[in-house]
Amino acid sequence: MNKLYCLPLGETMRNKFIDDAKQFAYGQAVFVVPGHILMDEVKKAGSVRTVIMDYLPNELLRVNHLDVYTRISRPAQEMVIKQIIKSLVAKGELSYFAKLADKKGFIKNMVSFIGELSRGGITCEEFYGALQAWERTDYLQAKDMEIYHIYLLYRQELKKQKRYDVDGLYRLAIRALQKENCVVPWEKLYFSEFYQFDNLQIELLKALSNHCTIEVGLFYDAERPELSAATENAYMDFMGMGFIKEQLQEFSPRNQGLDHFVRNWQREHPVVGASNGIIVFEAYSVENEMRGVLGKIKQQLQAGVACKDIICVVRSMDEYNGFSNLFKEFGIPTTLPEVTGFSAQPLAKFIENIMKTVATAYKIDVWKELLNNVFVDRIFGIDHEQIEASYNEKYFSSSSVFQEFVENKFPQSKIRELFAFISSLKGKSTPADFTNNFLQAIEDWSLEKKYGEVYKANTITLNQLKAVVTTKNMVTEIFEEMVGAFEQSGQAKQKRPISEFLEFWEERAKEKIITLSPGDKFGIRVVEASTVQGILFPHVYLMGMREGQFPKVKFENWIYNDQERKALNELGVTLSLTVAAMKIDQYFFAAVVAMAQQSLTISYYADDVAAASCYVQELQQYYEKEALAPTFYTTDVAHCYSAEELAGILAQQEMLAATEQVWLTNKLGGDFISRKFLDKERWLGKNIFNGYLEQKQECKYLSASALDNYVQCPFNYLVTNIWQTEPWEPLEKETQPVVIGDLYHLTLAKFLSKHLEENIGHADYSILLEELMLELADVYGQMAAQGLISESEFSQYDYKRYRIVLGKWLLAEQAYQANQKINLLPKYLELAFGRKDSKLPGLPISVDGEETIFSGQIDRVDTDGNNYMLTDYKSGSVPSATGVALGRFLQLPVYILAVEKLLAVEREKIVGAGYYGLKNCKRSGGLWENTLKEDLPWLYNTRPNNLATVMEKAESSIANGIRGIRNSAFPANPAEKCPAYCPCLDICRYRVSDGTQDAGEEVEDNV
Ligand code: SF4
Repeated sequence: MNKLYCLPLGETMRNKFIDDAKQFAYGQAVFVVPGHILMDEVKKAGSVRTVIMDYLPNELLRVNHLDVYTRISRPAQEMVIKQIIKSLVAKGELSYFAKLADKKGFIKNMVSFIGELSRGGITCEEFYGALQAWERTDYLQAKDMEIYHIYLLYRQELKKQKRYDVDGLYRLAIRALQKENCVVPWEKLYFSEFYQFDNLQIELLKALSNHCTIEVGLFYDAERPELSAATENAYMDFMGMGFIKEQLQEFSPRNQGLDHFVRNWQREHPVVGASNGIIVFEAYSVENEMRGVLGKIKQQLQAGVACKDIICVVRSMDEYNGFSNLFKEFGIPTTLPEVTGFSAQPLAKFIENIMKTVATAYKIDVWKELLNNVFVDRIFGIDHEQIEASYNEKYFSSSSVFQEFVENKFPQSKIRELFAFISSLKGKSTPADFTNNFLQAIEDWSLEKKYGEVYKANTITLNQLKAVVTTKNMVTEIFEEMVGAFEQSGQAKQKRPISEFLEFWEERAKEKIITLSPGDKFGIRVVEASTVQGILFPHVYLMGMREGQFPKVKFENWIYNDQERKALNELGVTLSLTVAAMKIDQYFFAAVVAMAQQSLTISYYADDVAAASCYVQELQQYYEKEALAPTFYTTDVAHCYSAEELAGILAQQEMLAATEQVWLTNKLGGDFISRKFLDKERWLGKNIFNGYLEQKQECKYLSASALDNYVQCPFNYLVTNIWQTEPWEPLEKETQPVVIGDLYHLTLAKFLSKHLEENIGHADYSILLEELMLELADVYGQMAAQGLISESEFSQYDYKRYRIVLGKWLLAEQAYQANQKINLLPKYLELAFGRKDSKLPGLPISVDGEETIFSGQIDRVDTDGNNYMLTDYKSGSVPSATGVALGRFLQLPVYILAVEKLLAVEREKIVGAGYYGLKNCKRSGGLWENTLKEDLPWLYNTRPNNLATVMEKAESSIANGIRGIRNSAFPANPAEKCPAYCPCLDICRYRVSDGTQDAGEEVEDNV
């Protein structure tokens, strides 16, 4: 007699089934569970054969000698579908999906949708019949027919290849069971902890029920329809198959608060006083959540609770990276293995990059990435850091130039072998040839031997060595899977380009993980909520109860949306709906809570993005206000549960007793006291940590731009002008902004040098333009010859851009000259002073009785013989008017002083100094005489500061700057917000230290 036991929430038939199974000889009664975790549970409890569902059809086919078909792998399914779609496109038989045909996401979705049809047991004929009955028209009908055709061709291809997918397996088994002489090796089957069965599984059970007895334990409570929605379909199916129903009512003993939840969740309920046994814990980050949970677990372990009585449940393990490391830190054993990503391993990256170099047609950046790998150093004997350093000095226009360079730099290395191997991969090859070629090369690299030597020399750890060996094995595994997938999809003999092998590799590599050490099977279990039901634990930690994490909204495959799925369901094509997935999610939550007997800790982290899950808020309604108020994880010396946490707390103490001091010194090193105050001290007062150096220095010579630098940020000045370090800046094929700036400056100087003191306002634009373009060509040629401009595929577009900018500048310049009322015309260009070969001497400025000689170069000085105007070209952004007014930009004021002193021009004759932006070809900003707007009409459109006021402020800033440099005061203290281009970003802690974040305003780059 087949029986369905309907169970209350949290209950199981497992133990009763195990007892019952003992009456059968081993193997005649089989216990079927939905996953491996539950399998272990049954195995622990008794000697009954325990399997997962797919074992049944496989075993039936085996004992009946019908296992002639082989199962197709998921990657092979994708290849088959991809081929089908490609052929339909070629024949012009795809219109609705034509645009998506070559998109990976589309292929994957189509495969998963076909899988859904298969698992639902929908034949091609049934699907076609439903589509006909649907009576859709136009493009929607075209969509339906295209899906049907893909499904049909897929089935036909599988038949041809003698392969089956999951539905084929079940169908073959069902067919076998319908034969008279079918051998069924079991007398009784028990099903426990399932919450749903798909159509084919139900069909199989139906067929099996004619051969053996079946008993099923299922959560189902007719009085709680909301909660039972997850198992409703399975319940109806078994009732339809004539199973005898037995409703059980007993609940396992739980503490009061938990019992209240289990009995009343999702039904009319009274509100009870205390949430006895339920704790809500709110964290501020995922790490804080993990630490908080581990802290609580450690307290329980210290109080004598055994590991086997505690379980941690998360909705998705992906959210809890690093959890096993934290277990280690807290000294708590866990079933979680220690893992690391496969695709990030140097060997895996190296292999991927080898394929990429060929697949991307030898792109230089991919070559650089290929060699930027310590693995290459060890195997081929080069030094990737030296190669990397060369990027600063040399631009490699092609991969062959790059290869030649590396070969010459390391003539003794084996790098040629690698290049020859890569070159051998250029042509198309069959998957098997490609794989053999690659695996042979890997063997030739003698990884184990070379890495074994490095390990012996203590350069890598045992775990790193293990990772290399495991990675190598996984590489072989992926290549073999690839050959298998091509074979299974009937494409083994075709030669293919490397890009297709790369595509396969990328897909598989990202799914693989390397286990560095297996979990401790006696440790604290950590599992996903979907994999455990019906197991009781005294203490349950339900983590990740955060919006968006649990409930986890699972949208169904978009090939058909929810509305279409609903319509198809009514026509007999069973497809899942998003709302059904939500019901199942809700069941997971209830099932996990019901696992707890003594205590349940619900944790989540709340931040600006999300807070507690709606389940937590709902749960709070079952208890009186405040009964489930969140708790938080705080640590102090008496309450911390890992050595790292204790060290962190002790390090914050003002005073330490001798024992703690010794312990901390051993753990953190002798200098921990000075390190702990370092960050605070850095920003306090004039100390060495904040750039106030003790040694005073002279400031005899200074350039105007260096002073500007100092005023902008003294620490930047120290790094750039005194230490003269340069940031790591590999030469790119794009020409650097500073080079473009020089190109414009030099071109304009050359052009205007032919029109000194000439008003070109009304001259013929086209003639001037031609002249300007000739100058551009000349300067460009010289800079290219010096290697400053990289010749690349972008060069011609860049050149066009330079022409356009200069053409616009000429138009603007003519308009300015035509409209000005005083005839200010260029007289001095690139006027240098105080420089090595300049005609003008340096500008002496005396501060506190000592002289500093300034140097600089003024882009342009215009005059009508009486009035003088200074111009500074800017190819980047122009300094802000506020910055100029506050004396934060001193170049123009220094230039004014230089013109006054070195050209002997009286101050009142200098009518202004301003910027000329080359991005927009406009004059703007600077410092000007207030009265000039009528003479120079463009001043109406700028925000000029008053010359005399700014000069007063600037002269005091200049003096302060000089004093600062003399006193060796170089604090990291940006005048405005730290610019994104600051060359010190990598070494300056200003932006990463607390208390220094909000200062200053943003300023853009000034080239
Ligand atoms: S990052 Fe900011 S504080 Fe640091 S050197 Fe640059 S500008 Fe100064």
